[in-house]
Amino acid sequence: MTPSTEVPVSAPIADLETDSLLGTFPEGPRLVGTECGQCGRTMIGTRVVCSSCVSREVSRVALPSTGVLYSFTRLHVGVEGVRPIGYIDLDDDVRTLADLREGDTPLQPGIPVVLGVEGDQWFFAPVAGE
Ligand SMILES: [Zn+2]
Repeated sequence: MTPSTEVPVSAPIADLETDSLLGTFPEGPRLVGTECGQCGRTMIGTRVVCSSCVSREVSRVALPSTGVLYSFTRLHVGVEGVRPIGYIDLDDDVRTLADLREGDTPLQPGIPVVLGVEGDQWFFAPVAGE
């Protein structure tokens, strides 16, 4: 007879699922965030615990659609051409890496940017007229 060495199987953690960051909210498509009811910290993505205080008192929120470009670069990728990406500081202090669209306004750190959505693709672009 073989001794049993079974241990309880851990429950899946929602943080590790590959859900899209894009969600549908009453105000329209927005990046999904999580707000901590304990310390007030806002984080990007769906979380089951707060990254700051480890509280489980968290709720799903829509992140702001506007922010400021912190830094950027242009990736030169084979046949796809140039792909600009950058860090965006959203208006609630959440920083995220995002695809960028270049328009008439040259990309530079500190310019205001706004979320754009095409199908299930999302990106940030300079605010028109700024
Ligand atoms: Zn917290």
